Amino acid sequence: MWLAKGTLTYIDLHTHSTASDGTLSPRELVQCAARSSLSALALTDHDTTAGLAEAADEARVLGIDFIPGIEISCAYPRPGTMHLLGYGIDPNSPILSRTLGDLVQARYERNRQIIKTLNAQGIAITDEHVARIAGRGVVGRPHIAAALIELGVVKTSAQAFSQYLGQGGSAYADKERLTAREAIDLIHSAGGIVSLAHPVQLRKQNRAQLREEIKTLADLGLDAVEVLHSDHPEHVVDMLEGWAERFGLLKTGGSDFHGSNKPHITIGFAQRLRVPEAYLSAIREHLSKLARSD
Ligand code: AMP
Ligand code: ZN
Ligand code: FE
Ligand code: FE
Repeated sequence: MWLAKGTLTYIDLHTHSTASDGTLSPRELVQCAARSSLSALALTDHDTTAGLAEAADEARVLGIDFIPGIEISCAYPRPGTMHLLGYGIDPNSPILSRTLGDLVQARYERNRQIIKTLNAQGIAITDEHVARIAGRGVVGRPHIAAALIELGVVKTSAQAFSQYLGQGGSAYADKERLTAREAIDLIHSAGGIVSLAHPVQLRKQNRAQLREEIKTLADLGLDAVEVLHSDHPEHVVDMLEGWAERFGLLKTGGSDFHGSNKPHITIGFAQRLRVPEAYLSAIREHLSKLARSD
Protein backbone atom coordinates (compact mmCIF):
# COMPACT_ATOMS: atom_id res chain seq x y z
CA MET A 1 0.00 0.00 0.00
CA TRP A 2 1.39 3.40 -0.99
CA LEU A 3 1.27 6.08 1.66
CA ALA A 4 2.30 9.69 1.43
CA LYS A 5 5.48 10.43 3.32
CA GLY A 6 4.76 11.32 6.90
CA THR A 7 1.33 9.75 6.85
CA LEU A 8 0.70 8.01 10.16
CA THR A 9 -0.85 4.61 9.93
CA TYR A 10 -2.44 2.69 12.74
CA ILE A 11 -2.80 -0.92 13.67
CA ASP A 12 -4.84 -3.13 16.02
CA LEU A 13 -3.16 -6.02 17.84
CA HIS A 14 -6.10 -7.29 19.92
CA THR A 15 -9.32 -8.46 18.23
CA HIS A 16 -11.80 -11.33 18.40
CA SER A 17 -13.81 -13.09 15.69
CA THR A 18 -16.59 -15.70 15.57
CA ALA A 19 -13.84 -18.30 16.10
CA SER A 20 -14.26 -17.25 19.76
CA ASP A 21 -16.66 -14.65 21.17
CA GLY A 22 -16.54 -11.89 18.55
CA THR A 23 -19.47 -11.36 16.17
CA LEU A 24 -17.61 -10.80 12.86
CA SER A 25 -16.17 -13.74 10.96
CA PRO A 26 -12.37 -13.63 10.54
CA ARG A 27 -12.91 -12.45 6.93
CA GLU A 28 -15.38 -9.73 7.94
CA LEU A 29 -13.05 -8.60 10.71
CA VAL A 30 -10.19 -8.04 8.24
CA GLN A 31 -12.58 -6.19 5.93
CA CYS A 32 -13.63 -4.02 8.86
CA ALA A 33 -9.97 -3.25 9.62
CA ALA A 34 -9.40 -2.31 5.97
CA ARG A 35 -12.41 0.02 5.96
CA SER A 36 -10.98 1.64 9.09
CA SER A 37 -7.70 2.21 7.17
CA LEU A 38 -5.62 0.06 9.51
CA SER A 39 -2.31 -1.06 8.03
CA ALA A 40 -1.94 -4.16 10.22
CA LEU A 41 -4.17 -6.43 12.28
CA ALA A 42 -3.65 -9.28 14.72
CA LEU A 43 -6.45 -11.76 15.40
CA THR A 44 -6.27 -12.89 19.05
CA ASP A 45 -9.17 -15.24 19.68
CA HIS A 46 -9.59 -16.88 23.09
CA ASP A 47 -7.86 -20.28 23.27
CA THR A 48 -8.09 -20.99 19.51
CA THR A 49 -6.20 -20.53 16.26
CA ALA A 50 -9.21 -21.64 14.19
CA GLY A 51 -9.79 -18.20 12.61
CA LEU A 52 -6.19 -17.44 11.65
CA ALA A 53 -6.04 -19.08 8.20
CA GLU A 54 -9.19 -17.34 6.96
CA ALA A 55 -8.08 -13.96 8.32
CA ALA A 56 -4.59 -14.32 6.82
CA ASP A 57 -6.13 -15.16 3.47
CA GLU A 58 -8.38 -12.08 3.47
CA ALA A 59 -5.52 -9.89 4.66
CA ARG A 60 -3.45 -11.02 1.66
CA VAL A 61 -6.32 -10.11 -0.66
CA LEU A 62 -6.78 -6.66 0.90
CA GLY A 63 -3.07 -5.89 1.35
CA ILE A 64 -3.19 -5.64 5.15
CA ASP A 65 -0.29 -6.85 7.25
CA PHE A 66 -1.56 -9.78 9.35
CA ILE A 67 -0.10 -11.17 12.59
CA PRO A 68 -1.33 -14.57 13.80
CA GLY A 69 -2.21 -14.26 17.48
CA ILE A 70 -4.03 -15.83 20.40
CA GLU A 71 -5.32 -14.85 23.86
CA ILE A 72 -4.99 -17.43 26.64
CA SER A 73 -6.76 -17.13 30.02
CA CYS A 74 -4.41 -18.10 32.85
CA ALA A 75 -4.89 -19.25 36.43
CA TYR A 76 -5.12 -16.19 38.65
CA PRO A 77 -6.68 -15.42 42.04
CA ARG A 78 -10.05 -13.66 42.21
CA PRO A 79 -11.22 -11.05 41.60
CA GLY A 80 -8.60 -10.55 38.90
CA THR A 81 -8.19 -12.18 35.51
CA MET A 82 -4.92 -12.79 33.69
CA HIS A 83 -4.92 -13.03 29.92
CA LEU A 84 -1.74 -13.54 27.90
CA LEU A 85 -1.53 -12.62 24.23
CA GLY A 86 0.71 -14.51 21.81
CA TYR A 87 1.97 -12.97 18.55
CA GLY A 88 3.72 -14.59 15.62
CA ILE A 89 2.70 -18.10 16.65
CA ASP A 90 2.72 -21.04 14.26
CA PRO A 91 -0.98 -22.02 14.15
CA ASN A 92 0.03 -25.56 13.21
CA SER A 93 2.38 -26.11 16.14
CA PRO A 94 1.48 -29.62 17.45
CA ILE A 95 2.04 -28.75 21.13
CA LEU A 96 -0.07 -25.60 20.76
CA SER A 97 -2.91 -27.50 19.02
CA ARG A 98 -2.87 -30.23 21.64
CA THR A 99 -2.93 -27.84 24.60
CA LEU A 100 -5.61 -25.62 23.08
CA GLY A 101 -7.72 -28.74 22.47
CA ASP A 102 -7.50 -29.48 26.20
CA LEU A 103 -8.45 -25.90 27.09
CA VAL A 104 -11.48 -25.99 24.82
CA GLN A 105 -12.53 -29.27 26.46
CA ALA A 106 -12.19 -27.62 29.91
CA ARG A 107 -14.39 -24.76 28.69
CA TYR A 108 -16.95 -27.21 27.41
CA GLU A 109 -17.16 -28.83 30.85
CA ARG A 110 -17.34 -25.43 32.57
CA ASN A 111 -20.15 -24.31 30.25
CA ARG A 112 -22.14 -27.49 30.96
CA GLN A 113 -21.74 -26.83 34.68
CA ILE A 114 -23.03 -23.24 34.29
CA ILE A 115 -26.02 -24.42 32.26
CA LYS A 116 -26.83 -27.14 34.82
CA THR A 117 -26.74 -24.56 37.62
CA LEU A 118 -28.99 -22.21 35.63
CA ASN A 119 -31.43 -25.09 35.04
CA ALA A 120 -31.46 -25.83 38.78
CA GLN A 121 -32.40 -22.17 39.28
CA GLY A 122 -35.43 -22.67 37.03
CA ILE A 123 -33.98 -21.16 33.83
CA ALA A 124 -34.76 -23.27 30.76
CA ILE A 125 -31.47 -22.74 28.94
CA THR A 126 -30.00 -25.65 26.92
CA ASP A 127 -26.56 -26.64 25.60
CA GLU A 128 -28.07 -26.67 22.09
CA HIS A 129 -29.30 -23.09 22.37
CA VAL A 130 -25.88 -21.84 23.45
CA ALA A 131 -24.15 -23.93 20.76
CA ARG A 132 -26.45 -22.45 18.12
CA ILE A 133 -25.46 -18.92 19.19
CA ALA A 134 -21.74 -19.77 19.23
CA GLY A 135 -21.89 -21.36 15.77
CA ARG A 136 -18.58 -23.01 14.97
CA GLY A 137 -16.66 -20.88 17.47
CA VAL A 138 -15.19 -21.68 20.86
CA VAL A 139 -18.08 -21.29 23.32
CA GLY A 140 -17.67 -18.58 25.93
CA ARG A 141 -19.77 -16.97 28.62
CA PRO A 142 -20.80 -14.12 26.25
CA HIS A 143 -22.67 -16.76 24.22
CA ILE A 144 -24.46 -17.97 27.38
CA ALA A 145 -25.26 -14.32 28.12
CA ALA A 146 -26.74 -13.93 24.62
CA ALA A 147 -28.93 -17.01 25.21
CA LEU A 148 -30.13 -15.53 28.53
CA ILE A 149 -31.06 -12.34 26.67
CA GLU A 150 -32.95 -14.32 23.99
CA LEU A 151 -34.83 -16.16 26.76
CA GLY A 152 -35.82 -12.83 28.30
CA VAL A 153 -34.06 -13.67 31.58
CA VAL A 154 -31.86 -10.56 31.41
CA LYS A 155 -31.79 -7.42 29.28
CA THR A 156 -28.05 -7.01 28.75
CA SER A 157 -24.85 -8.99 28.71
CA ALA A 158 -23.56 -6.92 31.63
CA GLN A 159 -26.62 -7.94 33.65
CA ALA A 160 -26.10 -11.61 32.71
CA PHE A 161 -22.55 -11.40 34.05
CA SER A 162 -23.36 -9.55 37.25
CA GLN A 163 -26.35 -11.73 38.16
CA TYR A 164 -25.33 -15.15 36.86
CA LEU A 165 -22.08 -15.64 34.96
CA GLY A 166 -19.42 -13.41 36.50
CA GLN A 167 -17.40 -14.02 39.65
CA GLY A 168 -19.98 -13.71 42.42
CA GLY A 169 -22.84 -14.53 40.03
CA SER A 170 -25.23 -17.33 41.06
CA ALA A 171 -24.15 -19.71 38.27
CA TYR A 172 -20.44 -18.85 38.20
CA ALA A 173 -18.11 -21.74 37.49
CA ASP A 174 -14.40 -21.64 36.81
CA LYS A 175 -12.49 -23.67 34.26
CA GLU A 176 -9.10 -25.30 34.38
CA ARG A 177 -6.44 -22.93 33.16
CA LEU A 178 -2.75 -22.88 32.38
CA THR A 179 -0.46 -21.15 34.83
CA ALA A 180 1.27 -18.04 33.52
CA ARG A 181 4.51 -19.97 33.28
CA GLU A 182 2.86 -22.74 31.22
CA ALA A 183 1.19 -20.25 28.86
CA ILE A 184 4.42 -18.29 28.35
CA ASP A 185 6.36 -21.48 27.60
CA LEU A 186 3.60 -22.71 25.28
CA ILE A 187 3.54 -19.51 23.20
CA HIS A 188 7.32 -19.49 23.03
CA SER A 189 7.43 -23.10 21.89
CA ALA A 190 4.96 -22.17 19.11
CA GLY A 191 7.45 -19.50 17.98
CA GLY A 192 5.58 -16.50 19.35
CA ILE A 193 6.18 -13.66 21.78
CA VAL A 194 4.00 -13.07 24.84
CA SER A 195 2.29 -9.86 25.96
CA LEU A 196 0.34 -9.32 29.19
CA ALA A 197 -3.17 -8.31 28.06
CA HIS A 198 -5.01 -5.42 29.74
CA PRO A 199 -2.91 -5.41 32.96
CA VAL A 200 -5.62 -3.44 34.81
CA GLN A 201 -7.80 -6.55 34.73
CA LEU A 202 -5.40 -8.19 37.18
CA ARG A 203 -7.24 -5.91 39.60
CA LYS A 204 -4.14 -5.26 41.73
CA GLN A 205 -4.78 -3.12 44.78
CA ASN A 206 -2.18 -0.51 43.94
CA ARG A 207 0.50 0.52 41.47
CA ALA A 208 3.34 -1.08 43.41
CA GLN A 209 1.64 -4.49 43.34
CA LEU A 210 0.92 -4.22 39.62
CA ARG A 211 4.52 -3.24 38.91
CA GLU A 212 5.75 -6.21 40.97
CA GLU A 213 3.47 -8.63 39.09
CA ILE A 214 4.75 -7.38 35.73
CA LYS A 215 8.32 -7.76 36.94
CA THR A 216 7.62 -11.33 38.10
CA LEU A 217 6.12 -12.16 34.69
CA ALA A 218 9.10 -10.56 32.95
CA ASP A 219 11.35 -12.87 34.95
CA LEU A 220 9.26 -15.82 33.68
CA GLY A 221 9.91 -14.75 30.09
CA LEU A 222 7.12 -12.26 29.32
CA ASP A 223 8.20 -10.25 26.24
CA ALA A 224 5.71 -7.38 26.17
CA VAL A 225 2.99 -5.44 27.94
CA GLU A 226 -0.29 -4.32 26.41
CA VAL A 227 0.04 -0.60 26.97
CA LEU A 228 -2.87 0.61 24.85
CA HIS A 229 -6.29 -1.01 25.45
CA SER A 230 -9.93 0.05 25.56
CA ASP A 231 -9.88 -0.30 29.37
CA HIS A 232 -6.83 1.97 29.81
CA PRO A 233 -7.22 5.67 30.51
CA GLU A 234 -4.25 7.85 29.54
CA HIS A 235 -2.63 7.87 32.97
CA VAL A 236 -2.53 4.05 32.90
CA VAL A 237 -1.00 4.13 29.42
CA ASP A 238 1.74 6.46 30.67
CA MET A 239 2.43 4.28 33.68
CA LEU A 240 2.64 1.05 31.63
CA GLU A 241 4.86 2.68 29.02
CA GLY A 242 7.26 3.66 31.76
CA TRP A 243 7.41 0.13 33.18
CA ALA A 244 7.79 -1.46 29.71
CA GLU A 245 10.87 0.68 29.16
CA ARG A 246 12.15 0.04 32.64
CA PHE A 247 11.84 -3.77 32.38
CA GLY A 248 12.98 -3.97 28.75
CA LEU A 249 9.57 -5.17 27.54
CA LEU A 250 8.05 -4.52 24.13
CA LYS A 251 4.81 -2.53 23.95
CA THR A 252 1.62 -3.85 22.36
CA GLY A 253 -1.83 -2.36 21.99
CA GLY A 254 -5.26 -3.03 20.64
CA SER A 255 -8.95 -2.35 20.97
CA ASP A 256 -10.10 -5.84 22.13
CA PHE A 257 -12.81 -5.52 19.49
CA HIS A 258 -15.61 -8.13 19.84
CA GLY A 259 -18.11 -6.73 17.29
CA SER A 260 -21.61 -6.21 18.69
CA ASN A 261 -20.79 -8.36 21.76
CA LYS A 262 -18.97 -5.26 23.08
CA PRO A 263 -20.65 -2.40 21.24
CA HIS A 264 -18.68 0.32 23.06
CA ILE A 265 -15.41 -0.85 21.45
CA THR A 266 -14.34 0.42 18.00
CA ILE A 267 -11.74 -1.42 15.96
CA GLY A 268 -8.45 0.52 15.82
CA PHE A 269 -9.13 2.51 18.98
CA ALA A 270 -7.98 2.17 22.58
CA GLN A 271 -10.34 4.70 24.15
CA ARG A 272 -9.33 7.85 22.24
CA LEU A 273 -5.82 6.60 21.49
CA ARG A 274 -4.53 4.72 18.45
CA VAL A 275 -1.87 2.04 18.18
CA PRO A 276 1.19 3.15 16.18
CA GLU A 277 2.80 0.94 13.55
CA ALA A 278 6.10 1.33 15.41
CA TYR A 279 4.87 -1.20 18.00
CA LEU A 280 4.65 -3.83 15.28
CA SER A 281 8.07 -3.05 13.79
CA ALA A 282 9.64 -3.66 17.21
CA ILE A 283 7.72 -6.93 17.64
CA ARG A 284 8.76 -8.12 14.18
CA GLU A 285 12.38 -7.25 14.88
CA HIS A 286 12.24 -9.29 18.08
CA LEU A 287 10.54 -12.24 16.32
CA SER A 288 13.15 -12.32 13.59
CA LYS A 289 15.92 -12.28 16.20
CA LEU A 290 14.26 -15.31 17.84
CA ALA A 291 14.01 -17.08 14.48
CA ARG A 292 17.71 -16.45 13.78
CA SER A 293 18.76 -17.81 17.19
CA ASP A 294 16.90 -21.11 16.61
P1 AMP B 1 -15.00 -16.98 29.06
O1 AMP B 1 -13.77 -16.92 28.21
O2 AMP B 1 -16.02 -17.91 28.52
O3 AMP B 1 -14.71 -17.19 30.51
O4 AMP B 1 -15.66 -15.52 28.94
C1 AMP B 1 -14.84 -14.41 28.97
C2 AMP B 1 -15.45 -13.33 28.12
O5 AMP B 1 -16.51 -12.76 28.86
C3 AMP B 1 -14.47 -12.21 27.77
O6 AMP B 1 -14.65 -11.77 26.44
C4 AMP B 1 -14.88 -11.13 28.73
O7 AMP B 1 -14.58 -9.86 28.24
C5 AMP B 1 -16.36 -11.34 28.85
N1 AMP B 1 -16.81 -10.76 30.13
C6 AMP B 1 -16.27 -10.97 31.35
N2 AMP B 1 -16.93 -10.26 32.30
C7 AMP B 1 -17.91 -9.57 31.65
C8 AMP B 1 -18.93 -8.64 32.05
N3 AMP B 1 -19.07 -8.27 33.34
N4 AMP B 1 -19.76 -8.13 31.11
C9 AMP B 1 -19.63 -8.51 29.81
N5 AMP B 1 -18.69 -9.36 29.35
C10 AMP B 1 -17.83 -9.89 30.25
ZN1 ZN C 1 -13.61 -12.20 24.45
FE1 FE D 1 -8.86 -10.49 27.54
FE1 FE E 1 -9.52 -10.04 24.29
